[in-house]
Amino acid sequence: MEIRNYINGAFTPPQSKLWIDNYNPSNGVIYGKIPNSNQSDVEAAYQAAAQSFKTWSKTSAEKRSKILLKISDLIEKHSSLFAEAESKDNGKPITLAKTVDIPRAASNFRFFGNAITQFYSESHSNTSAQVINYTLRQPIGVVGCISPWNLPLYLFTWKIAPAIAAGNCVVAKPSEVTPVTAYLLGDICNKAGLPPGVLNIVHGLGSTTGQAIVTHPNIKAISFTGGTATGASIAKTAAPMFKKLSLELGGKNPNIIFADCDYQTMINTTVKSSFANQGQICLCGSRIFVERSIYNKFKTDFIAKVKALKIGLPSDKTSNIGAVVSKTHLIKIQDYIIIAKAEKHTILLGGNKVNVKNNEDGYYFEPTIIEVNSNDCRINQEEIFGPVVSIMPFDTDEEALNMANDVKYGLSATVWTNNLKRSMYFSEHLQAGIIWINTWMTRDLRTPFGGVKASGVGREGGFEALRFFTEQKNICIKY
Ligand code: NDP
Repeated sequence: MEIRNYINGAFTPPQSKLWIDNYNPSNGVIYGKIPNSNQSDVEAAYQAAAQSFKTWSKTSAEKRSKILLKISDLIEKHSSLFAEAESKDNGKPITLAKTVDIPRAASNFRFFGNAITQFYSESHSNTSAQVINYTLRQPIGVVGCISPWNLPLYLFTWKIAPAIAAGNCVVAKPSEVTPVTAYLLGDICNKAGLPPGVLNIVHGLGSTTGQAIVTHPNIKAISFTGGTATGASIAKTAAPMFKKLSLELGGKNPNIIFADCDYQTMINTTVKSSFANQGQICLCGSRIFVERSIYNKFKTDFIAKVKALKIGLPSDKTSNIGAVVSKTHLIKIQDYIIIAKAEKHTILLGGNKVNVKNNEDGYYFEPTIIEVNSNDCRINQEEIFGPVVSIMPFDTDEEALNMANDVKYGLSATVWTNNLKRSMYFSEHLQAGIIWINTWMTRDLRTPFGGVKASGVGREGGFEALRFFTEQKNICIKY
């Protein structure tokens, strides 16, 4: 499969003439090639976007909305095609792609297609001074959207949909590891009547294509989701150019379990919050803290439930765990098992690569549970972003809260308790942008989404995303 850039509504080979191999994680075989676009490719995408901006920014919100809703319908219509492509490209189980990734990509377009018709700005009247102030929210111009490989189309559309809904034109880059569904989206946009140049997709490495987007002098805003180190490097480049930045970065989220919780719901959800998508979700609860009185019971039950998960081909409907995304990522996960052993933790379950029959070169890894001897260790402080969780007991609320907060990240946190006072206390004091009480990853697209500390800057979701993708201008009239 040869993937091409999508510029000005057409599929074009890269001017760089450079290509990158695309691997199938389920068997380690190269099954396609994608452009490694350079500055000229990004410039062509920018020019198309800048040209389109002249009309798209003046197109009514109703018309923009209609096109976004049409894109959403078409993703739904072709959901099997998208789900199969996503599962093959990323290694995630087909069931997950079908029930989460692709429906959510369609929802992103539907949500922002509707939201833009309800978006509003402020007006402040002062009748005694005979003055009225009102605020315009104008699209920024050409914006850059850069997304990661873990939830490829889901996170790509999470940025693109609000950007174009708000009247901007976009130069976007999906992760080079998972480019296929973004490529398929181009055709859907054409079919839905999105004018050429409103969305431009350039493929390639972060260090070349991504960097060319970030350094482009006229791409005025960057919405980025990815690792914390990459986010820091983007911020360093973009800040002196006075670009607007939204950074959704890494996490090392605590999952705090009290004895007074609804045990069955907690344990079933904890299996998901630990290992869904092979643990490659920024919101996964990778540090599990359990109240000591139920620690041994939890340990036994959790191990039994995780043991029952089926590791297998992503295309097999019965697989619970597919392949991790790439060989590099598999090696990173294996390195953390070596670190865990060196730190003298106990590996309660897993810790090894899995050979799936006839696919021995695939990137499969056992769901792994590590009993750590302290929160102050690399296993608990560094983001592994794979099917690896740590567990440890705690004795008091204060101890649990301190360990939960004692990490450089602050994306999300989950607390399991039926004690209202305790849940309110933890909600107030946990250092994270998103808190779940007695649930995990229950999303409402109207809510603000983002992290604190090294997990990011800014919020996306709902009107927050539309605010990010618009510039405010205040007008004061004396009458
Ligand atoms: P990376 O930071 O490696 O990459 C993210 C994207 O940025 C990719 O498209 C990448 O391209 C690109 N990129 C890399 N270097 C640069 C650069 N210098 N300039 C511009 N773009 C660049 O993250 P991963 O793809 O490995 O994704 C995993 C990370 O994403 C984890 O840390 C995870 O926690 C985080 N994440 C955060 C979420 C959140 O909402 N907070 C949600 C999901 C994931 P390429 O792939 O070609 O290198």
